Amino acid sequence: MSEVRTAETKQIKHLDLGRQLQSIRPEIDLAIAGILDKTAFVGGKPVEAFEQLFASYSGTSHCVGVGNGTDAIYLALWALMQSGKLAHGDEVITSTMSFIATIEPLYQLGLKPVLVDVDDTYNLDAALLEAAITQKTKVIIPVHLYGQPCGMDAILAVAKKHGLFVLEDCAQAHGATFNGCGVGTFGVGGTFSFYPGKNLGAFGDGGAFITQDESLEKTVRMIANHGRTLKYEHDMFGINSRLDTLQAAILSVKLKYLTAWNEGRQKIAAQYNESLAGIDGLTLPVVGKNRTHVYHQYVVCVADRDAFMAALDEDGVQTGIHYPIPLHLQPACSSLGYVQGQFPKAEALANQCVSLPIYAEMTDEEVSRVIVSVKKYFSV
Ligand SMILES: *Cc1c(COP(=O)(O)O)cnc(C)c1O
Repeated sequence: MSEVRTAETKQIKHLDLGRQLQSIRPEIDLAIAGILDKTAFVGGKPVEAFEQLFASYSGTSHCVGVGNGTDAIYLALWALMQSGKLAHGDEVITSTMSFIATIEPLYQLGLKPVLVDVDDTYNLDAALLEAAITQKTKVIIPVHLYGQPCGMDAILAVAKKHGLFVLEDCAQAHGATFNGCGVGTFGVGGTFSFYPGKNLGAFGDGGAFITQDESLEKTVRMIANHGRTLKYEHDMFGINSRLDTLQAAILSVKLKYLTAWNEGRQKIAAQYNESLAGIDGLTLPVVGKNRTHVYHQYVVCVADRDAFMAALDEDGVQTGIHYPIPLHLQPACSSLGYVQGQFPKAEALANQCVSLPIYAEMTDEEVSRVIVSVKKYFSV
């Protein structure tokens, strides 16, 4: 990386959270001040208000604010176990191309991850599901990777045929839709992360579980709050995983802008799609039918990724890799017995994927500079 940059080569960050904050700073300051004035930092009205806003934004009836997106998955599966719908040793099918958090809670709950390969959209290939189903399969976790919903109709059809639960990992897809319905509303529930870099991000960790099932909502809420029914009465042992009041107040402000921010991402994606189409050696993202992609990441594939990233870096364009190692090849998963070559599409993606800068506050000039830099690498 060169030390000195002129104004023209000022670095374009892969993600610039500072700009987003700047655009809404007065409102955020007010929201934070409101919480400080009341010195009520756990639970209370601001959390309830955000839960209602987020449920209605998502097109569902119930939302539970939790500590983070990983816990949202953990709590949802735990609640299914608590209601006798899932048991120790049962199998859960998901995509090998995800962040480790999708399967981490399975380890804690004694459930077994069963991984499948991706299709051209980089999401779980629904055509591979049936071959992965055994007597022990109980749940499918579709991950709406990079902000693109999975092909939910095909997944739901398989789930229905085999009597499986569908729990959507929506950590990267706030606001994305399939057939006009929000992600997280198709199965038994949906889990969200509000990690700062997500499309809807808090100023720290945060997460949510959404569902239309009132009894599941109650169980998740109880487990997330020490298994308590009354202040000092506990039906069971749970954990402490709640959405902080400060984070809820911040998220309520930011939620108002989410649609516009997602549209900003979509506009930039459209510019990339148009300007970078047809370049030999560059694979652009493929969007499946009947869905809106909210471009948490804009991921391209390039054979010589290192050279490509270095060339863009020289031009002041910062890029990322999501993710360099698919789950089946993670050292943490070695006991599952998967081998190199088992999921060729995910492995090719892991070796070649590069995430270009994308966020609503990018200027047209910056988008153009990214495009020029990519074209320069391919000499077009
Ligand atoms: C971020 C993420 C999570 C975990 O969310 P945290 O809030 O970081 O715990 C889970 N699944 C996917 C696909 C993610 O991208």
